[in-house]
Amino acid sequence: MSIRLHSEGGAGEVTGSKHILSVDGARCLVDCGAYQGKREVAEAKNRALVPDPESLSSVILTHAHFDHCGMLPLLAKRGYRGNIYATPATRDLAGIVMMDSAAIQSRDAEYLGKQAAKKGQKFTWQPLYDEEDVITAQGQFVTVSYHRPMPIGDGIKIEFFDAGHILGSSMVYTHARDRSGREVTIGFTGDLGRKNKPIIRDPEPLPPCDYLVLEATYGDRLHESVDEALDLLAKVVNDAVARNGKIIIPSFAIERTQELVYYFHVLHDQKRIPEIPIWVDSPMAINATSIFQIHPECYDSDIHEAFIKHHENPFGFNSLHFSASVTDSKRLNDLKGPAIIISADGMCEAGRIQHHLMHIVEDERNTILIVGFMAEHTLGRRIRDREKELRIHGDIYRLKAHVEEIKAFSAHADYQEVWDWMQLLDLARIKKVFLVHGEPKSLQHQSDFLRSKGVKDIQVIRYGERYDL
Ligand SMILES: [Zn+2]
Repeated sequence: MSIRLHSEGGAGEVTGSKHILSVDGARCLVDCGAYQGKREVAEAKNRALVPDPESLSSVILTHAHFDHCGMLPLLAKRGYRGNIYATPATRDLAGIVMMDSAAIQSRDAEYLGKQAAKKGQKFTWQPLYDEEDVITAQGQFVTVSYHRPMPIGDGIKIEFFDAGHILGSSMVYTHARDRSGREVTIGFTGDLGRKNKPIIRDPEPLPPCDYLVLEATYGDRLHESVDEALDLLAKVVNDAVARNGKIIIPSFAIERTQELVYYFHVLHDQKRIPEIPIWVDSPMAINATSIFQIHPECYDSDIHEAFIKHHENPFGFNSLHFSASVTDSKRLNDLKGPAIIISADGMCEAGRIQHHLMHIVEDERNTILIVGFMAEHTLGRRIRDREKELRIHGDIYRLKAHVEEIKAFSAHADYQEVWDWMQLLDLARIKKVFLVHGEPKSLQHQSDFLRSKGVKDIQVIRYGERYDL
C-alpha cells in the first residue's frame, strides 16, 4: 500500500515537465512536456526521457505549452493508449502546438536529408513523431471542465481549478486513496499565473491539500505589475507614431499575441492610440486566436462586460488584420507610414519575424518592442541587449531602430505573487511543499523565501527520486 510522487522531467529545470503520482503501483502522469534549449541536447533528452507507456494508467495535462504537452504524441507513438485528461481549451490549443511541432520536425527532416544527400552522406535522423502520432494523441483526450470532480480510476479523483496562466490552464487537485483506505490530497499547480491578466481569470485557490507541488520559474524574480502594461503599450505606440515609424513585436503565438490584440482593442476603443493598421502575421497565432474565440467559458469578467454583452469580438476590430499567406506577409514590407506588426517566433530565431526585422532595423524611426523572455544566444536576446550589429539570414544589419521592453506581460507568478496566492490556501493543512519547474537558483530562492514566511517543510524535487506521501 503506497502513495508516491516522483518526477521524470521538470525537476531542477524549467522544461520537460513530467510528474508521476503512483497509488499502489498504478502510475498517473501529470504533463508530458518537451525539453527545450540547445537543439541537439533537447532532442536527445526528448528521445530518451519519456516514461514507459506500458507503466502508465492515466495522463493529465495542465496546459497547452510545449514544455508541458510536447511529448504526448511520442507517448502515443510508443504505445500509450490510455486517457489524457485536460480542460476543453487545453485540448484544443495543445492540438495546434503538437501539430506545429510535427510539421517543423518533418520540414527539418526533409531539409537535413537534402543537405546530407548533397554531401553524399547517409541520413538517418528521424523526427520524434509525425502528424499521424499527433492525431492518435488527440483522439485520447477526455475533456473535463473546471470544477467537475472526475474519478480517473486506480483510487484517484481529479478536479481542475483555473491556474490563470494561459487559456484553459489548470491546477490539478488530486484525491488519492490506497487499498488500505488511506486518503491523501495533492495540489499540482502546473504553471501558476498572475492576477489581473487580460482575457483569463486570476489563479484560483485550491481546496485543502496535504501536499502541494508548486512551480518556481520566477522563484528569484519580481515582475512589473500587470496593470502597467496598458499604459506602457500606449506610450510605445504613440512615440513610434510621432516618429512616423513602424512597431515590430516578436511574440509567442499562444496567449501573448491574443493579449496584445486585446490590449490594442481596448486602447483603440478608448482612443488612446491613433487608427493605424495592426497586423498579426503568424499562421499559428491566427489558429490559436480562433481557439480563443470559441472558449468564452475561460474568460474573465472584464472581457464579458466589455465585449460579450455588446456582441463584439474582443480579438477583431476595424484596424486589425491577419495575414495567413506568405504573399500577404511579404506585402507588409511595402506598408507606408506607421503600423504595428505582431509576428512569430517569439525569440526571433525563425519564421516571418526575421523578414520584418531585416526591413526595419536600420531605420531609427522604427521600434522593436520586446514583450517576452529572450533566451541566451538568440537574435531576440541580441536585440534586447542592443548589440550594434545583427546577423539575420547570414547578412549583417546595423541596429538603429528603437528597442523597448515591457516586462509586465509575464504569464508566471513571481515569488511574491506565489506567496500571495498561497495565502489563499489552508496552509496549516499542508504537510510538505514540493518545488518543481525552476532553475536551481530560482528553486533555492523560492524555498528560502517561503521558509522566511513560516512554511517549514519544503522539498526541492530531485529527478527520479521517490517521495512517500
Ligand atoms: Zn506554461
